[in-house]
Amino acid sequence: MKSEQSRAPYYIKLHLGDYERDTVELSPLQDGMYFRLMRWYYSTANPIPNDISRIYRRVHALSVEEQEAVKYVLENFFLLDGPVWRQKRIDHEIGEYMERSETAKYAAQRSVENRQKRSERLSTARKLGTHTKTEFEILKVVCGDKCVRCGTDEWQLERDHIVPIYQGGSDSIDNIQPLCAKCNSSKGPEDIDHRPQGWIEKFNEIKENGLANAERPLSDRLTNQNQNQNQNQNLNSKPLEPIGSCEAEASQPVDNSQNEKAKKRREDARFILGHLNAKAGRNFKPVPATLKPIEARLKEFSRGDCLRVINLMVEKWDSDEKMYEYLRPSTLFRASNFADYNGLLTTGPKP
Ligand SMILES: [Zn+2]
Repeated sequence: MKSEQSRAPYYIKLHLGDYERDTVELSPLQDGMYFRLMRWYYSTANPIPNDISRIYRRVHALSVEEQEAVKYVLENFFLLDGPVWRQKRIDHEIGEYMERSETAKYAAQRSVENRQKRSERLSTARKLGTHTKTEFEILKVVCGDKCVRCGTDEWQLERDHIVPIYQGGSDSIDNIQPLCAKCNSSKGPEDIDHRPQGWIEKFNEIKENGLANAERPLSDRLTNQNQNQNQNQNLNSKPLEPIGSCEAEASQPVDNSQNEKAKKRREDARFILGHLNAKAGRNFKPVPATLKPIEARLKEFSRGDCLRVINLMVEKWDSDEKMYEYLRPSTLFRASNFADYNGLLTTGPKP
């Protein structure tokens, strides 16, 4: 009995229209008794036992009038089925509830198991060897600050374990190569070392002399990227008006509504980030850098689109050793990625 009770719903769906229609002829007393009987039924997730004195006690029907009301409701709203009074609708709702909670329980359990598996594998990989952040920075320099697989320098470079961790690869720098997010997510089980020949000598040399002394226009490169971005933005926007011109002042109210929209997008982005954290078991902080790509997508897509893409990608990647780490705003909400993911939702996978 206890196990049944723990599976009982905590809330009930009450379709007001249907309820009003079905109970319009009930007196307040009968209506009250009906509601008590329903609550009993739902709270145990079991039909009502056909034991009239037990029923009276349970719903506190003490007077003859109250007991008559109980009998009336039982006979008109429930069906005697052997030793119990049943109602089809309540059985259906309880069934649906249990199905939902079983599914949710299963998904939660699977997610926990996957996470455990991932962290176990990573700790095994780390027992075989580890690398530092600086070592990875040096490796990127050695590899020309490019994706060693496709040669692009337009994407942020990520650590790829050449022999995947789930195949027993270690986490030491010998087993790491910088790949762009695209290559990293598409490489599958291949274990090709794309690093340039002689990388290890160069690596050791830089490590000895210090990264600061290495030839690396990284900061220049980042500045260039920013400049490019600004240029693109300028191309997309209207020609710049001289600051303080009449036009700029006249457009003040428009700016206010723009501010309102931006504020709304920030709120939505926070909500969406919370959803991602909850679904993927992550803990991204709602800082501007994290919210920015989400806000950018909210200019073209709805909040619902964003939530659906998260649900879809968590479903796809949650149990995937390699892809799990891409369940993050910078990957999910990158313009080109997001359009692809959203496409999966509306058209299904492309042939
Ligand atoms: Zn690449």
